[in-house]
Formats: sequence, C-alpha cells, structure tokens
Amino acid sequence: MKPAEFTYHRPKTVTDALGLLATLGDDVKLLAGGQSLGPMMNLRVARPSHVIDINDLSDLESVNVNGDRIEIGSLVRHHRLATDPQIAAACPILSAAASSIGHYAIRQRGTIGGSLAHADPAAQLPLIAVLLDAGIRVGSQHGSRTVDAQCFFVSSLVTELAEDELITAIEFPVFPSRSGWGIEIFAQRQGDFAIVSVAATVELSAAGVVKSLRLALGGTGVVPIRLPDAELAAVGRVPDHALSEEISRFAAAAVTADDDARIPVAYRRELAATLTERALTMAAQRAEGVSER
Ligand SMILES: Cc1cc2nc3c(=O)[nH]c(=O)nc-3n(C[C@H](O)[C@H](O)[C@H](O)COP(=O)(O)OP(=O)(O)OC[C@H]3O[C@@H](n4cnc5c(N)ncnc54)[C@H](O)[C@@H]3O)c2cc1C
Repeated sequence: MKPAEFTYHRPKTVTDALGLLATLGDDVKLLAGGQSLGPMMNLRVARPSHVIDINDLSDLESVNVNGDRIEIGSLVRHHRLATDPQIAAACPILSAAASSIGHYAIRQRGTIGGSLAHADPAAQLPLIAVLLDAGIRVGSQHGSRTVDAQCFFVSSLVTELAEDELITAIEFPVFPSRSGWGIEIFAQRQGDFAIVSVAATVELSAAGVVKSLRLALGGTGVVPIRLPDAELAAVGRVPDHALSEEISRFAAAAVTADDDARIPVAYRRELAATLTERALTMAAQRAEGVSER
C-alpha cells in the first residue's frame, strides 16, 4: 500500500521546523528516520495531511560530553549510537542497546528522537532512557523544557510531547567508575522487537558491595518501568547469585501485561525473571572488572 496524500515540508533550520509545527495544527507528523512512520503511513494507520522532514536539521546531530553528562542530538541514528567510540566510552549500555535494534538497514536510518517519540513499549532506547533517568529536551516556539524519561512515556505509543513540540536532544549520565551494565533481550527472531527486555546498571562501593542498582523492564506493560523496591533492596548487599535471584522475583511480580494470543503472561513473567538474573550478573561482573566494561 501507499500513503494517503500529504503535503511535504523540508525546513532547513530548527526555528523553521518549530514555526511549521506551530502553524500547521495537529494533523502533522515529523519525519526522522521514517522506520516507524513510513510503515504506519503505508498501512494508513497514520494519515497526516502534512509531513515535516527534519533530516536537514544538522543541529540535531551533535554528540557532546559535558562533565558527567552526555548529550545526544535527537537525529543521531541508531548505527552511530552503536559504533561511536565517544558514546561507547561514556554510556556503553546505550551503544549495546542500539546495536541490538532491528536490522542493519533500520539502524542506518532510525533515530533516537524518533524511537523515543514513537514510544513502542518493547523498544530498546525508551528502556535505556528510563533506566538512566535521561532528560529528554523538547522545544517549541514557546521555548524549551526537559522532561524526565520516567514521566515522558505515558502509554503504548503515547508520550508527554505536545503537538507543537520537537525532541531536540537527550541527556544521559556518564557511567561512573566501578560500575557495570547488563542488557538482555528476548525476541522470537533476530531483528524482531523484543518480547521482554531487561537493562541494569550496578555501581559498587570501595568495599565491593552494591552502592546503587538501576533496573528497568521493557515489554512487560504499556511503558518501560523501573523497579524502585528492587533497586533499594540491593543496596549494601554483595552482588552475588543469591541477590540476582532475589531481585529476579521482583521483576516477575512487576509484569502487568495481559495474556495475548501469542504470549501468555506466565511466560512473560518467567522471561522477566530469567533476563533480570542474567542482566544483573553481567552488570556486577563488569563493575568488578571480571568482564570487559
Ligand atoms: C522491521 C523493523 C524492525 C524494527 N525493530 C526494532 C527493534 O527491534 N527495536 C526498536 O527499538 N525499534 C525497532 N524498529 C523501529 C526503529 O527503531 C525506528 O527507527 C524507530 O522506532 C523510529 O525512529 P525513526 O527515526 O525511524 O522515526 P520516524 O519513523 O521518522 O518517526 C516515528 C515517530 O516519531 C516522531 N518523531 C520523529 N522524530 C521526532 C522528534 N525529533 N521529535 C518529536 N517527534 C519525532 C514522528 O513524527 C513519528 O510519529 C524497527 C523498525 C522496523 C521497520
């Protein structure tokens, strides 16, 4: 199928794009990598009257490390997230997550801003944004604001973005020393969206106990979630197998998805527990220097 008729706009600056968003009303879509919007328009699930192609907005392609934060422009492609040494050094779990998205061709076009705005509950980049408390910077003609990732995702394919807003950049914390990460994704075939995904970071104290744990689940409900009770329960504990097992029970209990025709909820719970155990074990090994960071 082909998309319904629309008017195509290709602004040269962010200011022009925001001007178009402000004047064209609510029947408009931004086009970044087109890897979600393209199929949705072809299937006529989305039928915008106007499409604003933002691929000429080179201001949205920058990557900057400022002290303990790394800021990534919304038009940075998944392939660059996966392969840029500066991103890998500052935020290795982001690179690993991006490298696991879809197929090579999709990673060449898909962008971080597009993935966050699309807000698929099983997508990798929203999971990492929630895990790391990323700040999502959005702009409009009225100015800019930064939304905490945990507040940004409202429901499946629904975000906090207003109709006249554009994501301009995403800010992640730089990984501290003595910290490690793990990401585990289960999909039926390579390149498919995950059924369940789990991401974790562990920071160890000088004494070798858990100073902080971050744990996030994707594909277990309508948005990616953090597990604050599990994160708290791990603090001060030795990061051993018993702890991973204990924390995995929190993950199974946190699954809110219903049974669907393909995946019974009991299976999703089992996946959440198993993947959590693996992600935590890997994060702890990396923090201890047993595995490469
Ligand atoms: C076959 C296939 C397999 C895939 N597998 C995976 C997978 O395993 N994991 C995964 O995470 N993703 C997967 N994807 C989706 C892929 O990551 C998309 O690239 C991503 O979801 C959307 O990014 P995009 O840049 O292509 O956005 P687009 O498709 O251009 O846009 C998506 C939505 O975001 C809006 N938007 C885009 N940029 C902005 C912005 N800067 N500010 C505000 N709104 C914006 C658009 O208006 C649109 O509503 C897959 C896609 C395909 C086609």
